[in-house]
Amino acid sequence: MPEYNIAESVKAQSEYCKTNGAPHFAPRGGSCWKCNKNIYEPIERKFKDYLSGEEKTRTTGITVEEAGSQLVTGCPHCNRSYCD
Ligand SMILES: [Zn+2]
Repeated sequence: MPEYNIAESVKAQSEYCKTNGAPHFAPRGGSCWKCNKNIYEPIERKFKDYLSGEEKTRTTGITVEEAGSQLVTGCPHCNRSYCD
């Protein structure tokens, strides 16, 4: 199970940036200024799988593990880029 935790992820991302000398693109607190959702929170969306015709659920959001291991450059929910 992927772990989602806003406070932990904010901390993990800022530590990742410090360690790697990377610019911190992610919004403070994780709240996206475009869609007003938190990038570190899971959002479920339903979509139709065109091959099988089944309705499936996809979860977007950045996990604690991802926040601590990769640079956040955009919103996982609305795909808004923070680095341009
Ligand atoms: Zn967004």
